[in-house]
Amino acid sequence: DYARWKWRRVMLKVSGEALAGKEGFGIDPEVVRSIASEVAEAAMGGIEVALVVGGGNFFRGAEKEGNGLDRASADYMGMLATVMNSLNLQAAIEGKGVPTRVMSALEIKEVAEPYIRRRAIRHLEKGRVVIFGAGTGNPFFTTDTGAALRAAEINAQCVLKATKVDGVFDSDPKKNKNAKLYKELTYETVRRLGLAVMDQTAITLCEENDIPVVVFNISKERNIVKALRGCSVGTCVGS
Ligand code: UDP
Repeated sequence: DYARWKWRRVMLKVSGEALAGKEGFGIDPEVVRSIASEVAEAAMGGIEVALVVGGGNFFRGAEKEGNGLDRASADYMGMLATVMNSLNLQAAIEGKGVPTRVMSALEIKEVAEPYIRRRAIRHLEKGRVVIFGAGTGNPFFTTDTGAALRAAEINAQCVLKATKVDGVFDSDPKKNKNAKLYKELTYETVRRLGLAVMDQTAITLCEENDIPVVVFNISKERNIVKALRGCSVGTCVGS
């Protein structure tokens, strides 16, 4: 029945901030429940879902370095924050009846499986949602890059980047009310116009591996289901 869907295996990137409630910090259980329910619905419909979650709702390395904390240590703290978010999402998705595995790029074997590429693919084939924790496992990178890297490794057909805006605009929609939303963009245009889609490392990785990136608004109800099913939402960046 899933012939009508564009994607079979997808990578969904959710920022840490998206999990935070109105205070902009920590985890809002209501938000996590709603994300989990949409992910579970798509997974139950036969779509193989891989997830990467950020850690910005707890800790972002670049913002916290200084005062005796070096960048690498701060980044490791940020990676640990993503593991916390991953565990919460796992519990919520399993609460909706879909088996889920957290695979961490840093070994914390009491809480999550270590990342093993072939094992991750096997989990997906068995219909388990796989959440990749700890980003790439390296300081000086971001979870966007983690999402792009894992997407390439597991042959995901796209990276769906959930944000708080509708997609990529020609100017900042918060400052300019006439800002125009792009429906489709090429990597080339993104580079030429210097549009903010993902950080450079992440977008380059996607382009080199010919993985389209869909930027969409997570705050709109059912947008995750739509994006996962390959319906047109937000902005699609491709070659
Ligand atoms: N981080 C890292 N390497 C990675 C992924 C993440 O060092 O491969 C650290 C980095 O400090 C980053 C933090 O983890 O600031 C949280 O991730 P990110 O900022 O990407 O989260 P988001 O903005 O999506 O919430």
